[in-house]
This record gives sequence, structure tokens and C-alpha cells, in this order.
Amino acid sequence: MHYKHEWFEKTLVNASAKKTLAEAAPEWEFSHIGVVEITTGKKYGSCQICHARIMQFVAIRNKKNGMYLLIGADCYDKLLHYLATEKIEAVTLVERRQYIAAIKKYAKKNLTVAFLAWFKGQKTIPETIKETLAVIKKLKYPPSLKTAEELVEYYKAHRRFSLAQLLTDEEQYLLESYSRPPRLPKTCTLKALPEIQEKIRAWAEAAKERERQREEEKRLRREEEREKNQKLAKEKGLAEMERRIKENPSRYQKGVFQRQIFRGKEEWFFRQNGAKYILSDRFGWEGKSETTYVTITREIIPDRAYIVWPLIMDTWGWSVVDFAWRPKEEQAFRKIHPHHSIT
Ligand SMILES: [Zn+2]
Repeated sequence: MHYKHEWFEKTLVNASAKKTLAEAAPEWEFSHIGVVEITTGKKYGSCQICHARIMQFVAIRNKKNGMYLLIGADCYDKLLHYLATEKIEAVTLVERRQYIAAIKKYAKKNLTVAFLAWFKGQKTIPETIKETLAVIKKLKYPPSLKTAEELVEYYKAHRRFSLAQLLTDEEQYLLESYSRPPRLPKTCTLKALPEIQEKIRAWAEAAKERERQREEEKRLRREEEREKNQKLAKEKGLAEMERRIKENPSRYQKGVFQRQIFRGKEEWFFRQNGAKYILSDRFGWEGKSETTYVTITREIIPDRAYIVWPLIMDTWGWSVVDFAWRPKEEQAFRKIHPHHSIT
């Protein structure tokens, strides 16, 4: 056993085509852990350093020439120890214990029971995957991180899920939110999922934009309609007011109010054909500098001065509101001005 360092030297140097172990060692890296029977079909193999009979091996790989050495776990541990005591630096071989811990950690997270169970039902799987699975069965962990990752990649590329199972609640919601959803497969692999998710996202965004535009058009149409209706109502209202004046000139009038201070009080009035029409002070209305239609409610100086109320359009602009046209006011009007006819 004390000659082992010479074997290391010889084997590694030969396999690396180098002169010294110090030169050769940095070229080697840990590759994977294997089971002889799974790899070769024979129950036993021999360590490529010490030729001892082995059932499991550690594979180390030369990064320069891609050559593998399959060695026993003992030899591997001793090799590491030897390289350490010889202070050979830049060695890329990690401690077996450490490496296995990392593999196990990855496997615990990714190679769950449900995950591994799926492979059992698969009829056609590549040999390398089969070998990895056989090692997992035997050792309870995969040969290397790389093979474990390959397993995950294979799973992602081949295991089909119903799409509904894979989409997020938000994505499902989006698909139901707009009309004409994109054509999507019923089932999907994890590998193909991001592309489908992107498709949904892009479609939803476009649909949302279309909806926004439709809403905007609708809003503009409503606005236009409202403006048109308002204009029509105003025309209708004006025509109605003109009709009232024409049919009943003693009750309705029109003019442009002006302001004056009369006996210390503000007063709004306009003159028409020698008569003065004064806005009722009971009406809290601010005079406008445009033509206003009014109802005559009281005659204060016969044929000379009248108290009037404005005729206005209702809030929606649909009809003319005659504030003064109430039975009580009408009776009063008749009493004061009996010769005036009222419609
Ligand atoms: Zn050995």
C-alpha cells in the first residue's frame, strides 16, 4: 500500500501525457460515481490505479483529452490526500464526501418520488437516462450533478401535463377575460411552457389594447351623441320659446338684461317697446348678457313696468321650464291683468 503514490504518479501522468504529477493533477476533475455492474454488466471490475476488485467506482476525467479513469473509492480518497500532502495546487478534484453531499442535496430537491415514478412508466428512454436511474436505484443518489440535471431536462422535455395544470391562476383568468383566445395545446411539457406563457401574455396585452381602443371609440361616440343631442335640444327649446312669444306676447317676452342699482338694491332689467321688464328679486339668478326669454308674472305700472321670471331649459336641456307657470301665480296674473289671455 505504501507504493500507492507511485501508482498515482504513473497512472495520472501516463493518462495525461505529462512528465510529473504536479503537472498532470490539475487536468483531472471529478466526473461521477458509478456501479460496475450497471456500466459493464459484470459484477466486478478493477481499479485502474491499484487493480483491486471493485463493485463501485469513482470516475475522474481529464479535462484536456477527455480520458476517464475509473478508480475505487479508497484510491480516490488516498489520491486526494496524497495530492494535498504533496501540496499540489490547482487540483480540481473535490472530496468524495463533499461531492456526494452536493449531489444528494440536488437530488432531494429535484428528484422526488413522484418525479422518479414517472420514468417507470416510460417505454422509450435513452440508455444514459436508464443508467442514471439504475444507479439511483442502487446507490439512492445519481452518479453526478450533471446526470441528475440531464434527468431533470429529460423530464421537462418529455413529461406532458394538462395545460390547465401548469398555467397560473392569473393566466387562466386572462384566457377567460377576452374573446378569441389563442389556440393552445391541451397538454404541454415544462420545457415548452414558457413559450406558451409568453404567447398568452402577448395575446392578452394585444386584446387589452384592442379593448382600450374600443372603449375610447365608444366614449368618443357617446360624447359626440351627447353634444348633438344637446344642440338639438337647445334648438328645440329656442323654437319653443319663440313659439310662446308669438302666440302669447302679453305673457312672454325676450330681451337682454342689464344691471342697475335702484333704491340701494341691485336690479336686472331690460326695455322693450317702451316697457320695462324687471327680473323678480325672488329669483336668485344672475343676469346674463345674452338674449333671455321671460314670463311676465306681474304688472307693476300698467303697460309700463312688469316683473318677469326667466324661462330656462331644464337640467338635461330637453324642455323649457316656466317657473312662473303655477296655478297660484296664474290666478294672480289674471286678477292684475284680466285682458291678457293666457295659454
Ligand atoms: Zn485502487
